[in-house]
Amino acid sequence: MAQMLRIAIQKSGRLSEKSLEIIKKCGIKFGSDERVLKEQASNFPLEFLYVRDDDIPAYIRDGVADIGIVGRNEYDEQAIDLQVLRDLGFAKCRLSIAVPQNMQYTGLACLQGMRIATSYPNILGGILKEQGVQASFVQVSGSVEVTPAVGIADAICDLVSTGATLAMNGLKEVQAIYTSTAVMIGRKQIGSSEKEAILKRLMLRIDAVMRAAS
Ligand code: ATP
Ligand code: ZN
Repeated sequence: MAQMLRIAIQKSGRLSEKSLEIIKKCGIKFGSDERVLKEQASNFPLEFLYVRDDDIPAYIRDGVADIGIVGRNEYDEQAIDLQVLRDLGFAKCRLSIAVPQNMQYTGLACLQGMRIATSYPNILGGILKEQGVQASFVQVSGSVEVTPAVGIADAICDLVSTGATLAMNGLKEVQAIYTSTAVMIGRKQIGSSEKEAILKRLMLRIDAVMRAAS
């Protein structure tokens, strides 16, 4: 049987719909019944794997998938050595420092010695280190915004798109430290010339779709 390129896409979440939309606009036909885990396109040698976004970089590294679409934040945080094939531009968000509404904030230096809750210790750690700021991290994977109110953190560093959730929890966004969009990632070497050729064809179509949209 001829080889297929396998793409990992978030099963359900903020990236799912737009990821599938881009592939559809490439003229690739598939069912995208969200309950299936795996499916094949009917008119292009592409196979879809629907998974949690957090798992995508490791799946690509391990060869379970060849390429995938994730937020740049997830890719950078995991620090798995792959390559960014394209910046797809959607799912724009920022990683910001937020503090209790009554706290005075004058810059990253005032976080010295504080407890900061975040799901992004690597990205935040790198930025604080550059600034010579030492802080301790409270690592949580969800509901980061409630940690100051319950007394386990002094400040947070979390993804923000509107700021409404922050306000609801008595916090204010004080500084954006990083911005993210969805990126298409893949291994530096796909490991098969047949798959390389399929990827090239797919990328030509994606570039055309993105040019048409801009
Ligand atoms: P999964 O169940 O697949 O692990 P998740 O809860 O980790 O899903 P989503 O909330 O769907 O992930 O977010 C996926 C990506 O969407 C984020 O990693 C980020 O790149 C992007 N994103 C865009 N806006 C926001 C936002 N306001 N909050 C969080 N993520 C956002
Ligand atoms: Zn996730």
